[in-house]
Amino acid sequence: PEPNELSETEAEAVVENLRSLVRQHDHRYYVEDDPVVTDAEYDRLYRALEDLERAFPNVRSEDSPTQRVGGEPISAFEKHEHPEPMLSLSNAFDAQELRDWYDRCRRGLEDVYGDVAPVVVAELKIDGLAVALTYQDGHLDVAATRGNGRVGENITHNVRTIHRIPMVVPVSGDQEPPDRMEVRGEVFMRKSEFEALNERLRDEDEQAFANPRNAAAGTLRQLDPSVTAQRPLSFFAYAIGPTTGGTPDSHHATLEMLGEFGLPIESHTQQFDDIDDVVEFCESWIDRRDDLDYEIDGVVVKIDDLPYQEELGAISNAPRWAVAFKFPAREATTTLEKIIVNV
Ligand code: NAD
Repeated sequence: PEPNELSETEAEAVVENLRSLVRQHDHRYYVEDDPVVTDAEYDRLYRALEDLERAFPNVRSEDSPTQRVGGEPISAFEKHEHPEPMLSLSNAFDAQELRDWYDRCRRGLEDVYGDVAPVVVAELKIDGLAVALTYQDGHLDVAATRGNGRVGENITHNVRTIHRIPMVVPVSGDQEPPDRMEVRGEVFMRKSEFEALNERLRDEDEQAFANPRNAAAGTLRQLDPSVTAQRPLSFFAYAIGPTTGGTPDSHHATLEMLGEFGLPIESHTQQFDDIDDVVEFCESWIDRRDDLDYEIDGVVVKIDDLPYQEELGAISNAPRWAVAFKFPAREATTTLEKIIVNV
């Protein structure tokens, strides 16, 4: 049933069920690195919960998983407090939702900037793990997972074994690095390297990984860095966190700066000034995703201009100036129907 077909009492029961399920899936995914449902299935449960919380304001709660980011950091690691929270992203599941997001951004800017049509940057959404790398005077100082967004795990010992992450920036050239710079990006495993790793693990009678994301998560949270060193991890930078000195005033210029420092940047990133072209770009990747050697689960679309981003701000767990266009499910599943029917 649609939210408007439920009574308040029925809605409350469904919401409780959904929250409990989403919490369990979050734990399996973020803490145990061992999900039991597909991401598309998870997204449907999460969206159903969001819709009900919107339709029934009385059932809203700060404890709801819709108000949170990620999972709690595991205690085997030292904790790292993020100087600025690492948020999640809101989702758009089709072209209309993407256009609605863009219209909301335009309306959000109207009071201060008038009727503007902001430029956006579209980037492939790599299916890995968000990390924050802090460089002090150009040297990699601390690396941390996103964790619950406020506190992550200190994984510096493992990140130092990833050859694709520079220990010193700039890698070449004579630019002066900022005194302190936080680089945010995604650690992931390439499909070809994942297959080779699994083959090796099977040969050694060890447990193979279910997919490249699990392999990357398990590898990044190894306690023994010599194990991490034998496993091929990759990295793409996609943002900066707190950084001293003058920083660029647009997102695309930030990416260019990171590229000049020698940080790996995903090469399909594109700037657009027309939302129709963004929609076309996003939809084109639904079929092209299999041509890549890494898994993507969508396209992230961001307002380019930093003052616009600041004006738009954030909701509890995601910025308003960015959205993740998620690809349609590859397979259909039924948990959601079961929960609703059983109430
Ligand atoms: P998200 O993955 O939808 O979006 C935020 C993340 O996107 C960032 O933290 C970053 O890691 C990543 N990202 C990749 N490329 C990026 C780019 N260019 N710019 C910015 N960010 C980029 O949100 P989330 O909170 O990490 O996780 C929610 C998603 O995780 C769900 O939608 C689902 O797909 C999956 N999940 C699955 C299960 C399950 O049981 N299967 C459980 C929990 C979460």
